[in-house]
Amino acid sequence: MPGPSRQARTIRLPGREVAYLLSRSRRRTLALSVGATGVRVNVPYWVTLKEIENFIHERADWLQEVLDRREAAQATRLADGSTVWYLGQALKLRCFPGLFEEVRRVRHELWVSGMAEATTELIADWLRQRAARVLPRRATRYGARLGRACEAGLMTGTSRWGSCTARGRIRLNWQLIGAPLWIIDYVAAHEAAHLVHLDHSPRFWAQVEALHPRWREARDWLKEHGGKLMTGDTP
Ligand SMILES: [Zn+2]
Repeated sequence: MPGPSRQARTIRLPGREVAYLLSRSRRRTLALSVGATGVRVNVPYWVTLKEIENFIHERADWLQEVLDRREAAQATRLADGSTVWYLGQALKLRCFPGLFEEVRRVRHELWVSGMAEATTELIADWLRQRAARVLPRRATRYGARLGRACEAGLMTGTSRWGSCTARGRIRLNWQLIGAPLWIIDYVAAHEAAHLVHLDHSPRFWAQVEALHPRWREARDWLKEHGGKLMTGDTP
């Protein structure tokens, strides 16, 4: 009898990509849960991937609701004077109450107009839009350097920074947009190196080193400051 196996996977639900940890064991039923480390799906050995994905799709509404609530609860409530991290820079938030919603970056400040209650959401949207423009491009660039095509996008609902599948789908956590570019590039290079080696073998790390020589320093930076990026606190 094989021991329990674990595998990191992603699934596309309406409007978002959700990362989950798939665990196979001697259990008899399928279970979906959201814990401190992210989404988990526990299944018996004999269940096919198609059945697992159907199982998640049937519970998609519930799952999206839980993830939305969790993200909102984790996000620090932002207000006038708060610090917002963007590409490693501390931007000071300036709030101008009004009906017209707008976020504008003015040198080292971020000006937001709108209803005060909407501030956190407006800033999160602004950051997510920028993440969508910056993050996937960095991964495809590293992929191209390795001569590998990949399809890169953002992910949410996980405590992981990135993922890469055997089929060349790279996902980066949008909250990385708060980190300096050389940190983003480490995660992008790490996932791109998985296009060649789907493990963390010495050969894999040699590939990362070739793409991003400061990888150790970047990994340490993420260990030290990463948790704060995830919760929206000041790193
Ligand atoms: Zn990895």
